[in-house]
Amino acid sequence: MATRATRATSGKTTEATSEAAACGQLADAHSPRTGAARTFPVLEVFGPVLQGEGRMIGAQTHFVRFGYCDSRCAWCDTLYAVEPAQVQAEAEWLDVDAIVARLASLGAQTPWVTLSGGNPAIHDLGALVERLHATGRKVAIETQGTVFRPWLAQCDVVTVSPKPPSSGMVTDHARLARFTALPQSNLKVVVFDDADFAYARDIHLRYPNRPCYLQPGNAVGQDDTAALLAKLDWLAQRAMHDHAMANAVVLPQLHTLMYGNRRGV
Ligand code: SF4
Repeated sequence: MATRATRATSGKTTEATSEAAACGQLADAHSPRTGAARTFPVLEVFGPVLQGEGRMIGAQTHFVRFGYCDSRCAWCDTLYAVEPAQVQAEAEWLDVDAIVARLASLGAQTPWVTLSGGNPAIHDLGALVERLHATGRKVAIETQGTVFRPWLAQCDVVTVSPKPPSSGMVTDHARLARFTALPQSNLKVVVFDDADFAYARDIHLRYPNRPCYLQPGNAVGQDDTAALLAKLDWLAQRAMHDHAMANAVVLPQLHTLMYGNRRGV
């Protein structure tokens, strides 16, 4: 999800952090600056669909998927929005007006627009959030909790998905704590195995005031519906037999059960 150096947005100067600068270099290296509106690498604009995960599960929403990510999870299911070469090949560079127009072209307006990636937080999306609010939409964002941006506070729901050991990533809790300080934040942890469950347990105990959602890992291209439901049952049993996880919510990936593992859903 994102990257960037210090820059002025709507009269405000965003903070410059080392990770943001590093991520910003990644995105800005490919971001056309014409002197006009800033553009963003967009892989998909789609909907209406039901949100398939976490706190927003079942909510009617449109999605905007942005390219580039500062993480590289072993089991990433959206590599087309992560791998720089693939993003360069497939992304459309759209400004805020074009994104809003693309959403409007999709017909029925849902209450929600979900910003996803990649890591959408590496981009300066504050102006987009303002525009979406002005058109009567609520904004949810999905990010792994690595690059904090002040405009995240404008979003109505901030779903933070710190990555467990099976991803190969390491969690920086100093960074993650900035996200969990947002009152509209919630945590979603993907669990593939026992080590991931222990990680989810630690996350839940560290941030007890944030809603915590657990989701079984999905081996894209390998798991069929029966396998996904078996994983869900395993995870539910683990949570229900661990008192410390009594308030964690166990959910499937609704969209994979409804539509299978594919893009645009
Ligand atoms: S943080 Fe998300 S988008 Fe980025 S590599 Fe990991 S799973 Fe993929």
